[in-house]
Amino acid sequence: MGLVKANPRCYKRPVTDQTRECPMCGESMRIKDRDDVQIVPGTHQQIVRHVREWICPECDYFEEVDDDNAPQP
Ligand SMILES: [Zn+2]
Repeated sequence: MGLVKANPRCYKRPVTDQTRECPMCGESMRIKDRDDVQIVPGTHQQIVRHVREWICPECDYFEEVDDDNAPQP
């Protein structure tokens, strides 16, 4: 049997487990998911965009997560 042993060092942590330092106060920021709802001007059409943001719990600084390099589920 050609079983391959899992190597724990190769385990890839999900992007939501990452931390990031706040550029304003140096505190660890957390990722928060939210839905950004925008209304198209002149219409009743709504555009719902799912956004991920880094939120700083200390100074309320936030920054949109760059999902370009994140693997899609
Ligand atoms: Zn901060």
